[in-house]
Amino acid sequence: MTPMRPPSTDEARIARAWEVLGTVLDPEVPALSVCDLGIVREVVPQPEGLEIVLTPTYSGCPATEVIERSVLDAVEAAGLGPAHVTLRRAPAWTTDWISADGKRKLRDYGIAPPGAPALPGGAVPIRLVRRQAAQPVPCPHCGSARTEQLSAFGATACKSLYRCLDCREPFEHFKPL
Ligand SMILES: [Zn+2]
Repeated sequence: MTPMRPPSTDEARIARAWEVLGTVLDPEVPALSVCDLGIVREVVPQPEGLEIVLTPTYSGCPATEVIERSVLDAVEAAGLGPAHVTLRRAPAWTTDWISADGKRKLRDYGIAPPGAPALPGGAVPIRLVRRQAAQPVPCPHCGSARTEQLSAFGATACKSLYRCLDCREPFEHFKPL
């Protein structure tokens, strides 16, 4: 699919940039790329180079500068440079922007994804979807809904710490926002 020669049209450059961005991992959740997280909003060809529009995740996360740097490095290393990053803070990022693929990767990584429990084969009653506070956070290891919150903050402010009452494994939950 991907031509080996450098892309010559804007459309090809944009498509290639999205591919490259799909390989840039989030520094705090290395299971996810910046595209899985939904923080790359747009790639726009400008006269001075590619403009990459990012919406940072939680405002308290110190990772934004690291992400900006990794995004620029990746795009420039792919021969698509020069590039620059524009931060767009409105509308604010929400965990709804994490792709379905991203949520699956989070669970595989041992972090309970935000939002409705998306267990394999598990159906979610519609009325539960908006009642996030009352919703159990299923264990990403064994799938049990019998879990308890140990701390509102995990390794980073983005996550809270839980423990599974069945398999006894602790895990982090990516807080819905
Ligand atoms: Zn468990």
